[in-house]
Amino acid sequence: MTLPLPTSLSPSKVSTFTDCALAFRFSAIDKLPEAPSVPAMKGSLVHRALELLFVRPPAERTPLEARSCLAIAVDEFATDPQFLALGLDGAAQQAFIDDAAKMVERYFLLEDPTAFDPIGIELLLSTSVDDLLLRGIIDRLDLTPDGELIVTDYKTGRPPAERQEASKLGGVHFYSLLCERLFGKRPVKVQLLYLGTNPQIITAVPSEQSTRALERKVTAIWSAVKRACDSEDFRPKPSALCSWCSFQSFCPAFGGDLPTAVELRTPLAAPAADTPVVDAPVADTPVADTPVADTPAADTPVADTPVADAPVADAPVGGELPVSGELPSTGVPPTAMME
Ligand code: SF4
Repeated sequence: MTLPLPTSLSPSKVSTFTDCALAFRFSAIDKLPEAPSVPAMKGSLVHRALELLFVRPPAERTPLEARSCLAIAVDEFATDPQFLALGLDGAAQQAFIDDAAKMVERYFLLEDPTAFDPIGIELLLSTSVDDLLLRGIIDRLDLTPDGELIVTDYKTGRPPAERQEASKLGGVHFYSLLCERLFGKRPVKVQLLYLGTNPQIITAVPSEQSTRALERKVTAIWSAVKRACDSEDFRPKPSALCSWCSFQSFCPAFGGDLPTAVELRTPLAAPAADTPVVDAPVADTPVADTPVADTPAADTPVADTPVADAPVADAPVGGELPVSGELPSTGVPPTAMME
């Protein structure tokens, strides 16, 4: 007997597999429920507020407007089952919102959002590499006046130590690879905007070498995942990350019971219809079954979000914006934007 292959790989799944193969299995294959965490939900709230801000015309992207966007996002979260599951009392909820507000304020220390216009916000991209489906959500995709792409990812956790910067940029290089394959053009810059205390921007310039290296890494990880599924051999790798792991109670390294986890295995989530997605024109490559994508989160392993199949816009792309299927001034073939 073999385990079913996961339907796709995303930056968070790649990182989870690298950190601990068993946690990857619990999350990506068994799809065990993961308890929401305060940092991850706070990250989602900040992402949503910034998404709402960038849907506004550039001149309206002010700190005052950002506070209104946060208030809208807070209202949305008030009925979110995952937010409610945190069980925060009144004071804790207020502290949660105050923290998020500080992060949104700090955003303005890093960038002037009136100075550019994104062409994609919370943009889900997917493409195939052989039999592997790669998926990722780009927090923001900008188009420079001279037609170059810039990928931006917001982070609400602590900035990494200098020696860890390269590994933290792995996820954004992943998005760079997706852009290259979908739009035929590698972004000139990928950047992480850290919005916690000590806000800062970490940037990298993707090169042919870095992109090919990431492609090889992802392909190697996919081969390892397939081997592990064939042999049903996903081993625990205890580390400091275990403190944040939702699966400790099933993990043999913590006296857990694997068969109990298998009994709790959930069916794949069905795709829903409100997330913009850009899929590469995947030729005849066989792709795994039902598409399932990943949620943006803070710096912790993340769960899944639904996918729809609307294409991309020629103006800022948010959940409610019109779509055109054409990216102006990039030289990007329109067919790359449409499924
Ligand atoms: S508790 Fe640690 S070793 Fe066990 S699955 Fe989670 S991350 Fe892996």
